[in-house]
Amino acid sequence: MAEEVLFKVIIIGDPTVGKTSFVHRYVNDSFRRDYKMTIGVDFALKVIRWSDRCNIKLQLWDIAGQERFTSMTRVYYKDAHACIVMFDLSQKNTFQNAVRWKKDLDSKCQLADGAAVPCLLLANKCDLGQREVEQEEIEEMCKEHDFLGWSETSVKEGTMIDESMNYLIEEMMSKHAELEGFSESATQGNGTIRHLSREDEDVHQGSRCSC
Ligand code: GDP
Ligand code: MG
Repeated sequence: MAEEVLFKVIIIGDPTVGKTSFVHRYVNDSFRRDYKMTIGVDFALKVIRWSDRCNIKLQLWDIAGQERFTSMTRVYYKDAHACIVMFDLSQKNTFQNAVRWKKDLDSKCQLADGAAVPCLLLANKCDLGQREVEQEEIEEMCKEHDFLGWSETSVKEGTMIDESMNYLIEEMMSKHAELEGFSESATQGNGTIRHLSREDEDVHQGSRCSC
């Protein structure tokens, strides 16, 4: 029987950058608005058949209306395996706040082994063509604040959504393998900052499940 791995992924960022739309787009048909907790979190589940031996259950936590830095974010971050920090390419202030979100996360949550939670930076709404943030600025911010990588996305057009999530899943699987003592089969985690591009399509293909 295939083994099952559960990962919690949190999506943070300023209001209206596209977080809820991202979850809807990614989870697609299987989206279920399971419940709304009192702290205001929307919660979606996606099951991925990763290999013959392994299914991944992805729990996506959308901060839903709690987009302020309060003590409540600690509850929301708890036990996260990975994170997406999203900003709106056409709203510079949301880019500046992305750093605050990353710092808030790192100050309140770590992985079981004490490492920082792997974090991908997504520059959403690239379809609008109203860029207020240049690629060089994103690249620099990504390096300076230890993001795993970054990508421009358009949730509206479905650009780089699956690719970004697959990249994050690869990282979580790699961490999972390390924690379970299969470090020799870990495929990534060398800390290199990457700019995802369309060449990363189907990035999970051929990857090995080590659970
Ligand atoms: P949240 O507050 O971060 O959850 O943002 P929402 O998902 O509610 O989106 C806010 C608004 O931005 C909505 O009107 C969405 O339709 C719109 N939106 C989200 N993603 C995109 C995108 O990639 N491109 C464009 N043009 N609009 C988007
Ligand atoms: Mg929302």
